[in-house]
Amino acid sequence: MFHPRARFPRLLTTKAHGQGLLDSTYTNTNNWYRSYYLKSFPLASGYHELVNDFYKKLIDTFTTIGLMNKLGDEEIENYAIEPTIILVENKVANHVCDSCGSKLFVAASDTISIHTKCLDYTCTGTYSQIQKSKPNYYQLVYNRNLSPRIYASEHTGILERKDRENKEIDFKERPKYNSLNTIVATSTLEMGIDIGTLNTAINNSVPPLTSNFLQRVGRAGRTSGSALITNFAQSKAHDLFYYGEPKDMMEGEIATPGCYLEAKDILYRHFLAYCLDNWSSADPKKNSIPGRLISLQLSRADLSAPEFLANRIISFIKAKEKFLLTEFTEFYKPDLEDSKALDNLKSFYWRKDFTSG
Ligand SMILES: [Zn+2]
Repeated sequence: MFHPRARFPRLLTTKAHGQGLLDSTYTNTNNWYRSYYLKSFPLASGYHELVNDFYKKLIDTFTTIGLMNKLGDEEIENYAIEPTIILVENKVANHVCDSCGSKLFVAASDTISIHTKCLDYTCTGTYSQIQKSKPNYYQLVYNRNLSPRIYASEHTGILERKDRENKEIDFKERPKYNSLNTIVATSTLEMGIDIGTLNTAINNSVPPLTSNFLQRVGRAGRTSGSALITNFAQSKAHDLFYYGEPKDMMEGEIATPGCYLEAKDILYRHFLAYCLDNWSSADPKKNSIPGRLISLQLSRADLSAPEFLANRIISFIKAKEKFLLTEFTEFYKPDLEDSKALDNLKSFYWRKDFTSG
């Protein structure tokens, strides 16, 4: 009859009772009965003796008129609802608390429970009748007879590569009836991972910038040209702002990625790339870096031989160092606020670290 986790029904007493077998209205601090009394009679005194007397009188009256019965001796006298007056009805009405939203299910013929106080211990709300409204979109969706089944999986940067690729193929090609049709992803999906075409995208928060937003939703609708995009706004300032001004996110400015050119490490790397570019364009046929490292046969190659790839590059740079440095710094100078970085590059180069490692 009762759910395993439901509270077991207990008989009622109006006397002080500390053994937990009975539910007692008696209080000298506060309990549910006193709280409900204060809610129902907001102008009455909460004086404990008065509350205890009230419940004693109330339960006695219920017993006299036959709503409750009384059993037990002086020590453990207790009350229960008189079974013969219980009315069971198959038509049910719903009341809802106007404050906490909790529901009370009563017999449809019951006219006295409406406008009573909420049964929740801490809530001071009042029950009122739920107006039957037309089911909304989601109620219709969840109640329809044939629902498409969702086969979902996560897609994040922490997945093992093989696992991740299998999921991508399963989602993209859908070889089986139970292939993935939903992917729950982090923003790693922005990184150009090929999962084919989407017809729906849901963001669970508003992305930081318009460019992120467009990357995240841009996957959807590529083949059909139309897609459903849902964006949830969380209750934080950023999200709420764009909830009010969605167009600012959808049509906002797209900032081109930029970097701080004076940063010496960027400059060093750029210079190395510049040298490699010059080396390969000097003789595109001979000067190329193999696509796979294995073709260099590093275990058998003589690393100090002048014809070894790295040594050929180094001797090229050494032979052309003046030209490379001048061209590179001249190219960069107009864009730099502080040309000290280029001087640093030169001294870095001349220290020979550049061509020795
Ligand atoms: Zn309530």
